[in-house]
Amino acid sequence: MLSFFFFDPLLMNPVYLVATLLGIIVTTWAQHRVTSTFKKFAEVGVQSGMTGAEAAAAVCRSGGVEGVTIERSSGFLSDHYDPRARALRLSPDVYDGRSISAIAVAAHEAGHSIQDAVDYAPLGWRSTFVPVAQVGGRAWYFVFIIGMFLNSSEAILGPLLMQVGVALFAGLVFFQLLTLPVEIDASRRAKAVLVSTGIVSNQQEEEGVSKVLDAAAMTYVAAAAASIMQLIALLMRSRRE
Ligand SMILES: [Zn+2]
Repeated sequence: MLSFFFFDPLLMNPVYLVATLLGIIVTTWAQHRVTSTFKKFAEVGVQSGMTGAEAAAAVCRSGGVEGVTIERSSGFLSDHYDPRARALRLSPDVYDGRSISAIAVAAHEAGHSIQDAVDYAPLGWRSTFVPVAQVGGRAWYFVFIIGMFLNSSEAILGPLLMQVGVALFAGLVFFQLLTLPVEIDASRRAKAVLVSTGIVSNQQEEEGVSKVLDAAAMTYVAAAAASIMQLIALLMRSRRE
């Protein structure tokens, strides 16, 4: 949200302004929802009495994953799987927690390590695309703005730069869309193993796990939706010239 630190000339465009505001609303809503769902189910224990770290280890074992370390990291909902280090980094609430939330998130991250172990293709594509998305995600804005300013004096370079900016942003959107199947698949694997191993042993626990994981997945859907709206607004802005 670079645009809030200085005057953003793109926000003069009403379509872009509305798209940006809608994007902020949906992503903030999804973030709030995952936080409140996580906190709610962090108060609810599971019969198996396992911690998140124990659940992650069990899910890894049952998924045939070997050589992955499970580490306690810092932060809140900062949990992730690092495919390069082959490490599951779990936040303290998840690592030590004996709750539906802790087990759901830990199992989800273990689900990513299963994807890695079975060479689940979209995870590989996603990892390959990370550097491209990182560079494009930062550069698109400046390229687009420079194009916008040059537009009146440079009849070819101006519009060209705007189109390059849009293309870079589209790359970022593509990356976000690629993230969706990876995230949904990790949760699907997590749920299946939690139930089959008995870590989650009744319907109430199962529903709780689903609610936590669905709320987490919704943050990725919201981020992608926000970017798609922004992309449409950028396309409209670049076509207008
Ligand atoms: Zn994930």
